[in-house]
Amino acid sequence: MIKLMVFIDGTWLYSNLRHLAKESNQPGFYIDYGLFPIALKNELEKKGALPQLDLVRTFLFGSYPVNYDVMDEDRAQRRKDFFSMLREDYHYEVEAFPIDYQRRRILHDDRSCEDSFTPKEKCVDIALATSILYHAAIADSFDIALAVVGDKDYFPLLQKTREVGKRVAVASIRQSCAKMYSDRSDEKRLKDYHIIWLNDMIDQITLKQQEALLECKSPLHAGEQGVLSTVRLKVGQPFYCDDCRAQFAEQKAEQMREYTSAGLESHQEEGRWEESYEPDETEYEGKIENLKPDRGFGFIKRQDGSSYFFHLSHLQNAEWAALEAGQGARFTVMKEPHGDKAGSVGRVWLVESDE
Ligand SMILES: [Zn+2]
Repeated sequence: MIKLMVFIDGTWLYSNLRHLAKESNQPGFYIDYGLFPIALKNELEKKGALPQLDLVRTFLFGSYPVNYDVMDEDRAQRRKDFFSMLREDYHYEVEAFPIDYQRRRILHDDRSCEDSFTPKEKCVDIALATSILYHAAIADSFDIALAVVGDKDYFPLLQKTREVGKRVAVASIRQSCAKMYSDRSDEKRLKDYHIIWLNDMIDQITLKQQEALLECKSPLHAGEQGVLSTVRLKVGQPFYCDDCRAQFAEQKAEQMREYTSAGLESHQEEGRWEESYEPDETEYEGKIENLKPDRGFGFIKRQDGSSYFFHLSHLQNAEWAALEAGQGARFTVMKEPHGDKAGSVGRVWLVESDE
C-alpha cells in the first residue's frame, strides 16, 4: 500500500478558516478534525487516480498563547483543549509552541489601537519542515507527503522532499495560497498532483454540530439552568454557559487585582520578563481553604504555606457546589505570591483524600 502522511500548518489554517466559513454559508462553521485527514486522503486518491492510500499519520503544527491578560484565560484554555482533543480523540501528532503576549489581550481588536505590539510566533514553520524532511529520510516512513499550507516559504522544503524521491501533494485555500502551489505548469517542481482546494471540500469537512440541553453549573447563573449548547465536555468537566463564562472573566480580572500579587508586572518592569518566561505546567499539591461560596472563589494553600487564589472556573474535574474547605487539590500556578498578596492558580483538580 502507498503510505500517506498529512502535515498541517495549523496556524495558517486557523487564521484562514474565515474564508471557508464565508463560503459555507453557515453561521458557526468548524472543521470536523476527525474527518479532515480522511477527507483529504479520499480527495487525493481521486485527484491522483490512486489506489486506496494508507493514511499513516497526521501532524498539526500550531501555537498557543502564554503570559496573556487574565481576561483571556477562557480563550487560551480553549486553544489548549483543542490540541488535547486532536491528540486524545483523533490521534494527531501535535507540535505546539508558546507565543508570549506580554500580559496583553490575545485578540488584536481587544488591544488599544495605540499599542504597536505584534505577537511573535516561533518555530511553527521550521517544525513542519523538519518533520517532513525527517520522515522523508527514514525508509518506509511515507511515500506521499500531503502538506496543508499556503505560505510560500515552504517551497524549498517541497522541492527537497521530491528530490529525495518522495511524492508531494498540496492542499490549500484559494484566498490564501502562494501562486506557485497552484501553478499548473509547476515551474518550481513542487508537487506530484493537482492542488487540492479545501474550498471544494467544505461539505466533507464541516463539523455537524449537535446541540444538547446542558445544565449550567455556575452558582451565579441567572434564569433557567438548562442551556442549548454544542460544546464538548471532557468526562467530569462541569458546563458553564457563555453568559456565565463572560461574567467569570470580568470577575476573575477584578478579584485578581484585589487579592493577588503584582509579581508578574514587576518582573516586566524590570525588563527581566522576556528572557525569564517559560510556560509552567508543573502541578503542585495543596488544600482548599478560605472558600467564599456566594462569590465563587477561594484560596488553595500549598504544602509550603503559600496561598493561591482560584475561581470556580479554574476547577477541571469538580463542581463548585461540591467543594469543602480542607479538600486536597492539585494545581498549576499562573502567578507566584508576592509580599502579603496571594498568588493565583492556572488550573485546579480536586483529588480524592484518604480520610
Ligand atoms: Zn450560566
